[in-house]
Amino acid sequence: MENLRKDIQSGLDVVIPPFVRDWLAAPKHHVIDGKFVASATSFETIYPGDGSVLATVSRGGKEEIDAAVAAAKQSFERGDWRCRSLDERCTALERLGALILEHLPVLALLESLDTGKPLRESFEGDIPRVARNFKFFAEFARQEGSACYPQGNTLHYSQREPLGVVALVTPWNLPLYLESWKLAPALAMGNSIVLKPSEWTPLTAAYFAEFLLPKVGIPSGVVNVVHGFGDGEAGEFLVSHPHVSAISFTGETQTGRAIMRSAAVGPTRLSFELGGKGASVVFADADLDKAAEVCTRAAFRNQGQICLASPRVFVEATCFEAFTEKLAARARNIKLGNPLNYQTEMGPLIGSTHFEKVKSYLSLLKAPARVWAGGETRSPGFYVEPTVVSGLPLDHAISCEEIFGPVVSVYPFKTENEVIEAVNATPYGLSASVWTRNGDRAHRVSNALRCGLVWVNAWFLRDLRVPFGGQKRSGLGREGGAFSLDFYSEWKSVSIQFSGEEAK
Ligand code: NAD
Repeated sequence: MENLRKDIQSGLDVVIPPFVRDWLAAPKHHVIDGKFVASATSFETIYPGDGSVLATVSRGGKEEIDAAVAAAKQSFERGDWRCRSLDERCTALERLGALILEHLPVLALLESLDTGKPLRESFEGDIPRVARNFKFFAEFARQEGSACYPQGNTLHYSQREPLGVVALVTPWNLPLYLESWKLAPALAMGNSIVLKPSEWTPLTAAYFAEFLLPKVGIPSGVVNVVHGFGDGEAGEFLVSHPHVSAISFTGETQTGRAIMRSAAVGPTRLSFELGGKGASVVFADADLDKAAEVCTRAAFRNQGQICLASPRVFVEATCFEAFTEKLAARARNIKLGNPLNYQTEMGPLIGSTHFEKVKSYLSLLKAPARVWAGGETRSPGFYVEPTVVSGLPLDHAISCEEIFGPVVSVYPFKTENEVIEAVNATPYGLSASVWTRNGDRAHRVSNALRCGLVWVNAWFLRDLRVPFGGQKRSGLGREGGAFSLDFYSEWKSVSIQFSGEEAK
C-alpha cells in the first residue's frame, strides 16, 4: 500500500500493482448476508482511458434482490444492528472512516480506473471525503439529543427509530463518495441496507464490501451489495420491493420519475438527488481572475460530470469578451490525458454511451456558436477537450439540457432581472454561483435564484450539516446533517404518566 501511495504521488504514470491486478482478475460478486453470491450472468466494467475490460461482475436480478432484501429484513427483525447502542454504531462508522484512509491509495486507484477521473481528484478529493462522510455522521449522530417535555406527573419525550430495509441506488460520477453519503447516516440510525451501485462503476463498492465492512463488527445481513443494471433489472426490482421502507436515489431526473412509479408499491419514503444545470453569474465588479479560475473548475472538474457543475456562465456585458477569454485561456491550459498520472487535470468521460451523447452536443456547435476553446474529442479512450462556447440562444439544447460533460456555454447579460430570469429558465434547480463585490446585490440575486444551493464568490463550498438538495426537477427532500438523520429514521413520541404521589 505504501509503495502504491508513493507511485501515485510520483507524478509518473501509475502501473497497476500485482495485488490490484490479481484482485481485478477475480470476478466480483454480490455480498448478501455476509457471503459472496454469484449470478448466472455477468457484465464487464471498463477502463475509460482505453476501453479495456477491468473486471467481470455478477449481474443481479430478481432472485438476488429478493435474497438481499430478505437478509436485510431478517437482520433488522433480529435487532442485530438496530438494537446496538447509538454509540456502538457510531464507533463502527468511525472505524470505517479510518480504514478508508488506510486503504486510500488502492481505493483512489480503483475509482480512477473505473471512472477515468484523474488520480489526484480521487486521492485528494473523493476518497478522503468518503472517510469524512463516515466520521462526520458518527460525530453528528452522537451529539444529537431530543426534546423532553415534563408536564406535571407526565413526561413526554421523543426518540428516533430506524425505518427497516433501506435501498440505496447510486450513480457513477462519484461512486464511493455518494455511497458513503447514504450508508453513513442510514447505518448510524440502525437501518439494514441493500446498496445497488452503478453498473458503470462497481469496483470501489465491491472492494469496500469485501475488505472493509467485515472489519468493523457490523453483523452479516446489515449491509448487502447487489451489482447490476437499473431498468428492468436489479435496480428496478429493488425499488419496487414491498419490504423496502425507504429509497435514497441519486441519478438522472428521468430515472427518478421511473423510481417514483416503482416506489408507489409501498408507498415508500423517497429522497432524490437528481440532475442539474448549474450557472455562474459574473458581475463586472467581481474579482474576475478568481471568478475565471473557479468557473473553470466548476465547469471541468470530473470532466464536467458533477451534478453541481456550472456549465452555464452568465457574464455582465461590459466584461463579456475579456472574461470569456480568461475562461477560454484556462480551459486551453487544462492538462487532458492519462487519469493515472498525478499531474493530469482532466481524464476521459465515463464510457462510450456517454461519450456519444456528449459528442452529439458538440456536433451542434455551428454558427452562430463561437468556439473559444476545445470542441474536439480524442481517442483511444473517451476524451473530450474542455470546451468553451458562446453565441447560443437560451433555448438551445446546449443551454437547457444536462450534458454532464466538459462543455461550458457563456452568455452576456445587462441587468439583474434579465440574468435571474435566464438562470431560472431550466427545469433544474440545483446550484448556482454569484460573483460580485456588492453585498446587497449578492443577497438580492441569491434570494431570487430558484435552486437549492447558492455560493457567493465561490463554488462547491460544503458544510456537511447544511441541507443539500435541489429545487424543481433537481430533487426531492434534503440530505446532510439532521436532514439525513430525519430521512433515515422516524420519530416516536412516548408519554409516561407517573402516579403523581408525593415524595415519602
Ligand atoms: P442514472 O439515473 O442513469 O443511474 C443511477 C442509478 O440508478 C444506477 O445505479 C442505475 O443502475 C439505477 N437505475 C437506472 N434505472 C433504474 C430504474 N428504473 N429503477 C431503479 N434503479 C435504476 O444516473 P447516472 O447516469 O448513473 O448518473 C448521472 C446523473 O446523476 C446525472 O443526471 C447527475 O446530475 C445526477 N447526479 C445528481 C447528484 C445530486 O446530488 N443531485 C449527484 C450526482 C449525480
